[in-house]
Amino acid sequence: VSESYLVGLIGEGITISLTPPMHEREADRQGIRYLYRPIDLSVINRPGEAVGDLLRQGRDLGYNAFNITHPCKQLVLEHLDEISDDARRLDAVNTVLVQDGKLMGHNTDFSGFGTALAHGLPGAGLGSVVQVGTGGAGSAVAYALLKSGVRTLTLTDLDAGRAAARAAALAVLFPDRQVGSVPAGQLADVLAAADGVVNATPVGMHTHPGLPLDTDLLEPRHWVADVIYRPVETELIKVAAAKGCRVLDGGHMAVGQAVDAFRLITGLAPDPARMRAHFLEL
Ligand code: NAD
Repeated sequence: VSESYLVGLIGEGITISLTPPMHEREADRQGIRYLYRPIDLSVINRPGEAVGDLLRQGRDLGYNAFNITHPCKQLVLEHLDEISDDARRLDAVNTVLVQDGKLMGHNTDFSGFGTALAHGLPGAGLGSVVQVGTGGAGSAVAYALLKSGVRTLTLTDLDAGRAAARAAALAVLFPDRQVGSVPAGQLADVLAAADGVVNATPVGMHTHPGLPLDTDLLEPRHWVADVIYRPVETELIKVAAAKGCRVLDGGHMAVGQAVDAFRLITGLAPDPARMRAHFLEL
C-alpha cells in the first residue's frame, strides 16, 4: 500500500470534471494523502493518441493510477500490459493502475452502473429492459444490465446500425440471453412488455434538453434510469417520477464509477453514500 496517491484523469475538456473532487474528498475522509489531477488534452494541446505517452510518462513520474475518458477509452488499450476480462469484453478501459511498473486496465463504468442499479433500485425487475442510446456510455450500461441478470435486452438508437451491431456483439458474450434491437420510434411494443427503461443518449443534458423517448408509453410499473447527471434531475426522471415510476438518476452511475475506481486504486472501501452526498453538493 502506498503512503500517498497521485492520480490523473486523461481526456478532452475534463478540467471541470467532478471526479477529481469526489476522490480527493473521500480520501480526506479516509485520512490518506491523495492528489487527483485533471490532465486535459485540450489544455495541453495533445491528441487522444498521446494517451500512451502520457501514461508511460506518468508511470515514470510516480503516478499510482489514471482514469481515462473521452476520446481515449479505446485508444488506451494497445498501451496496457494487462486488461481485465470485463474491460477486454467491453473493449474499453476507464481506469489504469500502475502496479510494479506495469499498466493494468480496468473498467468501472459498467461496474459503476451495476452497483448503482443494485443499490439505487433494489429489487428492480430484470426480466426485460429497453435501452435507448448505444454509444460509449450505452455500451457500458448494456453490458452492466446483462451482467446484472437482465434476460431480454432491447436496444435502440437513432443510428439503427449502431444499435444492431451492439446487440449482435452482446448476444455473442451472453448467449443465454435475448439481446436485440428495434428502430428508434418503434418502442411501443417492447415497452409494453418491459420492466424498465434506461436512457443512455445525451438527450436531457443541459446542452441537449428534451426527452429521449415518448413518455406517454411509461406506466407506473416501469423503472426508469438515466445516465445524464447534468442536471441530476432530467426531464425524463421528473416525468417518470411524477407518473409514479421508480427512478435512478445519472448521478448514481457517475458516483458508482468513482466508488469502484477509488476502491481499485487504494484497496480501501469507500463510503458510497458519502461520495453521493458530496457529488450532489458539487
Ligand atoms: P455517444 O455520442 O457515444 O452516444 C450517444 C448515442 O445516443 C449515439 O449512438 C446517438 O446516435 C444516440 N442518440 C442520440 N439521441 C438519440 C435519440 N433521441 N434517440 C435514440 N438515440 C439517440 O455519447 P456517450 O459518450 O455514450 O454519452 C451519452 C451521455 O451519457 C452523455 O450525455 C454523457 O454525459 C452521459 N454519460 C454519463 C455517465 C455517468 O457516469 N452517469 C458516464 C458517461 C457518459
